[in-house]
Amino acid sequence: MNEIEVRTHTALHVLKGAVRKVLGAKWTASVYVKENHGRLTVQFDRKPTEQEMEQIFLLANQKVQDNVPIIIEELPREEAEKKYGDEMYDLFPVPKEVKVLSIVIIPDWNINACNKHHTRTTGEVGKILLDDWRFRNAKKLLEISFNII
Ligand SMILES: [Zn+2]
Repeated sequence: MNEIEVRTHTALHVLKGAVRKVLGAKWTASVYVKENHGRLTVQFDRKPTEQEMEQIFLLANQKVQDNVPIIIEELPREEAEKKYGDEMYDLFPVPKEVKVLSIVIIPDWNINACNKHHTRTTGEVGKILLDDWRFRNAKKLLEISFNII
């Protein structure tokens, strides 16, 4: 990942925290990053309203403005599962052979087992702008595309 993609990837964590707060959606189904463009796909059971989508980006950008530290905690997998349960997991599993997890923590916001590179603070992400979103009712998936500037 280049520097811009580290920021875009980190934006996924910030955005996911906002999605969790506004919609309660827990499970990330897939993620995509290319340069300053990203897409977060979460499992969700209904089409959100425009107001909810606006609220998600409002909260995400507040978290950027708050410029809070992003904490990386390395823990034996068993210990991590005791401490965080499945809150740190996504729908796509961490391979069985991985015995030590790198946990990415944005305090009071988002916890995710993730071994990629991240910015040190949320402020470094920059502004997160909604590009497009769609709800795929048959699959119960909400796809949120964004750009960072
Ligand atoms: Zn990550």
